[in-house]
Amino acid sequence: MIKVEHLSKKFGELTVLSDVNAEIKKGEVISIIGPSGTGKSTFLRCLNLLEVPSGGNIFIGDTDILHQSADVPKIRQKMGMVFQSFNLFAHLTVLENLTIGPIKLLGWSKEQAEKKAIGLLKMVGLGEKIDSFPDELSGGQKQRVAIARCLAMEPEIILFDEPTSALDPTMVSEVLAVIRRLAKEGMTMAIVTHEMDFARDVSNRVFYMDEGIIYEEGTPRQIFDFPQKEKTRAFIHRIR
Ligand code: ATP
Ligand code: MG
Repeated sequence: MIKVEHLSKKFGELTVLSDVNAEIKKGEVISIIGPSGTGKSTFLRCLNLLEVPSGGNIFIGDTDILHQSADVPKIRQKMGMVFQSFNLFAHLTVLENLTIGPIKLLGWSKEQAEKKAIGLLKMVGLGEKIDSFPDELSGGQKQRVAIARCLAMEPEIILFDEPTSALDPTMVSEVLAVIRRLAKEGMTMAIVTHEMDFARDVSNRVFYMDEGIIYEEGTPRQIFDFPQKEKTRAFIHRIR
């Protein structure tokens, strides 16, 4: 579904990604782990074109998304992104946060968008909060709204960048439960996370990023229990 070949990204003199190669299949859940500053966020941001890669290719299905003819808004719609800091629209209600995208970008009617939004809010356990504003919600609730907002655009894949790191420990599990449910339903996802137990539990494969590349990849068991390369081993040892 997604194929990345020789992806590189430089910021001025700083090479953050030097040669990233990866494939993510439909229905797969990939966890991306690694030390701070190794380009995990940059990699996700390149995938949905929030950053312009310096080189390499990214294909979604047969579409070369870095080609000049690529339809960037369409690509972004296919690839939802959920950030650590929620990024909700503060001046809109929870319901409006979910309906604005489908109405403005997908051309849905208000009724159609609201019906879908209410269903999604119920699914994430926030059916009661449709008329609240973001600053009336807890962190865990905000993040669940952000996930529902992402789903409202009917993405084919969701990219999560540390979705629980800004949350109080008590709220982490409610957000992870929603992601787990999406995994069960077959949603394709790539998740940058420090929640190693969750990564082990939910993902099909784990990418360990270091030195500007996917330094080691494998099943959760391979990466967490039997890492083959020195830096992976050191990292896994450190976080235990
Ligand atoms: P963390 O685990 O701390 O979130 P990360 O693996 O997500 O780290 P990135 O945020 O991708 O790391 O950053 C990788 C490197 O690129 C860092 O050295 C960072 O300072 C640099 N970087 C990221 N964005 C920019 C930018 N817009 N301009 C310049 N440098 C940047
Ligand atoms: Mg990051």
